[in-house]
Amino acid sequence: MGPPGSGKGTVSARITKSFVLKHLSSGDILRCNVNAQTELGLLLKSCIDQGQLVPDDVMSRLILSDLRGMGQSSWLLDGFPRTVSQAETLDDAYSVDTVINLNVPFQTIKQRLTSRWTHLPSGRVYNIDFNPPKVPGLDDVTGEPLVQRDDDTPETVTRRLKSYETLTEPVLEYYRSKGVLETFSGTETNKIWPHVEEFLNRKLPSVHRGAA
Ligand code: AMP
Repeated sequence: MGPPGSGKGTVSARITKSFVLKHLSSGDILRCNVNAQTELGLLLKSCIDQGQLVPDDVMSRLILSDLRGMGQSSWLLDGFPRTVSQAETLDDAYSVDTVINLNVPFQTIKQRLTSRWTHLPSGRVYNIDFNPPKVPGLDDVTGEPLVQRDDDTPETVTRRLKSYETLTEPVLEYYRSKGVLETFSGTETNKIWPHVEEFLNRKLPSVHRGAA
């Protein structure tokens, strides 16, 4: 969990590099559907571009269908749930062991989002200030071009942060009351990460450790 631009994508990538967990990003699933240019994709694109959440029933259906396809594997969800209704739907189907919350000030996030570049097919994220690609504009692994997301404009970012406050912050309370929420505060992903890693090393059973 964490506001848009709090480093969920980067931290998730590091978690799946160090631990044996499958990574599922709701944003990437949606963008994949948008790229496929289906009817559903068009509806999703208009929500995403306006900085609005896509409807709970659509989002939950997409995520649950992917989770079912993962069989017995353990997974890491990134960007889902973002509303209490989504959290309840997830709870009905699975039990959530741990919720990691990245608590990053909104001021830092606004600066960060406008300098963010993404490799769409993989979801790899770069930041031109503190995590630049080796070759400007190109993905380190594939050499393919990076793009700036349409929803990273200043007005859309403000709208996304507002919707985070009203719809997603209550989800933190939901998980806090269940005793599974672990919050990590800071302004730099590189400083937050060692604490997340140390926490997961303590928390996760040994079968999930040592993926790197
Ligand atoms: P992200 O890449 O996680 O920042 O997601 C990009 C956009 O996808 C968000 O601004 C929303 O429009 C949409 N989105 C991602 N996850 C969800 C979710 N769990 N529920 C509803 N909309 C979502």
